Amino acid sequence: MLRWKDVLIYAKYSNPEPTYRQEKTEKAWQQVLTPAQFRVLRQKGTEPPYRNAYCRLYEPGIYVCAGCGNLLFSASEKYHAISGWPSFTQPITKSAVIYIFDSSFRMQRIEVQCNVCDGHLGHVFPDGPEPSGLRYCINSESLIKIDPPRNEI
Ligand code: FE
Repeated sequence: MLRWKDVLIYAKYSNPEPTYRQEKTEKAWQQVLTPAQFRVLRQKGTEPPYRNAYCRLYEPGIYVCAGCGNLLFSASEKYHAISGWPSFTQPITKSAVIYIFDSSFRMQRIEVQCNVCDGHLGHVFPDGPEPSGLRYCINSESLIKIDPPRNEI
């Protein structure tokens, strides 16, 4: 299980290796993404709180990257954070996402990106529930929810 100290070490020293990569030019991304997905994933935009697809959804399933399909988060790690965005306590695997120090908007935050396509997902904060204490605050536009594997129904 990842905790805040692991996130800091990843951001400061070296992120987990991706299992594979998917790279495209920004023009090619623009052709396959919706304008709202492109603004979040490729331009680090933030969608409005509450008015987004997965904020209040707690059905079982897997959330994959809306850009490349990389498996990112399980609904079993999703919780109600009252932030207005989908919130998770862990990524689905340690190598699913990477961590980047982000000092934009006069804040010191840690950005979360997809490890396969480098798409911007959101940020991670150390104010989540135990035992991990992590809150992955993720834009719905960067995610697509797929049904759970049969053995989890
Ligand atoms: Fe991706």
